[in-house]
Order: sequence, then structure tokens, then C-alpha cells
Amino acid sequence: MPVEIADKWFDTKRIDEDITLLWEPYVDPLLQCNIWHIRGRDQDMLVDTGLGIASLYDATRHLIDKPVEAVATHTHLDHVGSHYEFEKRTVHKAEADLLTYPEETTLDTDYWRDALAGTGCEPQWPEMLCKLPHDGYCMEHYHVKPAEPTRIVVEGDVVDLGDRQFEVLHLPGHSVGSIGLWEASTGILFSGDAIYDGPLIEEDVPTYIETMKRLRELPVSVVHGGHEPSFGRERLVELCNAFLAKRDC
Ligand SMILES: [Zn+2]
Ligand SMILES: [Zn+2]
Repeated sequence: MPVEIADKWFDTKRIDEDITLLWEPYVDPLLQCNIWHIRGRDQDMLVDTGLGIASLYDATRHLIDKPVEAVATHTHLDHVGSHYEFEKRTVHKAEADLLTYPEETTLDTDYWRDALAGTGCEPQWPEMLCKLPHDGYCMEHYHVKPAEPTRIVVEGDVVDLGDRQFEVLHLPGHSVGSIGLWEASTGILFSGDAIYDGPLIEEDVPTYIETMKRLRELPVSVVHGGHEPSFGRERLVELCNAFLAKRDC
């Protein structure tokens, strides 16, 4: 069990005038999710909310001065842990129940090593946390808090920020209700775990193949994934092709 206490739990990087990346630096890279804040004219959007170990609401207070819609790209623990802290909670229809009734989960390294054996993804540190959020924090009691969705979306729905519109793309394969948020006017895609520049976890390969074929055709300028650094169209095509080639597609 780590003993050192973190000064602050989230790190922050300004991507441009309206987009900020937050992440949890003291969490094993396996569960270190990219949390995106997008400023809009009428409302802001949060894409995913991290593990919920420390308050994301507090960590984003300085960024947010209007209503904010917290969108879940999917309901894995590292993406929805702080959803309960926000009033507007959005998720795809296929995973709505999982936001309301989160599955039991754990920060136990051995569990994750076993669960992901053979996927190329595994914990990289001896323990899932290398610092604690505050004195007395107990990793063994970690759980995802229930967060009943206030909005359920499907393919083609739009998250409207007033001056920016993000279309919901249903991108299943990593999970049944995985979504991307696509801004056609700029070519920006927030892709969650459907695609990022690292080993991907496949829940349903035939479905994932269709998602990869779809992603490969998307005229993106930049993909902001659920993990790892962002990338452009050329890399997107490479990653899709690599995935498909492994499956003779
Ligand atoms: Zn995931
Ligand atoms: Zn993830």
C-alpha cells in the first residue's frame, strides 16, 4: 500500500483555447484514462471522468462556469468514476444500466493481471496507485459510485454546446455501448477506448472489425482517445489497418 500523499490528484494540460486534458498521474497506466474538458458557448462537455478516487468536480471548478454535460464514452471504471459528481450524465443506451448499477470492481493488481492475461494490456506497476489522494484512503474499499444517467444517447444524437456540436457515433467492440464524439466541422473525434494508440482490449471481435472499418473512413484531423497521446488521420488509418490485418480483413 503506498504511503505518500499526492499534492493534487489530477494533472492538467491545455490542448487549445477550448480543450483541456486531465489525467490521474498516480494511477497505473492501465487505468489512467484521458479526461477531456471542452468549453462551449452554452454548456461545456466532459468526456469521461476518471476513477472517482478524488473529486473531479473540484479539480475542474476553475475550468467550468456554466452547465456541463458529463458524457461516458463507455462505463469501464476508469472512465465513469466521477460521473456521480455531475448533474448531467450521458451514456449510450446499451450501457445505461451499468452507469446506474456499476459492477463490482477492484484496484487489486493481481486481479487485473489475471483478467487481462494474453491481451497485451496489463498493470505496469506493483500496485495500481503509487500515491494516495489523502491520508487514510483505503484502496481495498474502492468502488464506482452509482450515477443514474440523465440522458441516454444512441447513434446520431448530438451533444450541443451552443457553438459546437458533437455527434454520437456508436463504436462497439471494446464494449457494447462504446461511443465516439465527432465534430464534423473540425474533424475532432473523442474516441474513448474504441481506438487509441496502444494495445486495445477486445470484447467482441466481429463487432470491433466493423467499428474499425468505419473509423478508417472518418476524415479526422485529430483523435483524442481514452488513453495514450492524440494522433492524426495517418496514424488512425495505420492503427485500423493493423487491427484488421491481424484478423485477415
Ligand atoms: Zn475501456
Ligand atoms: Zn479505458
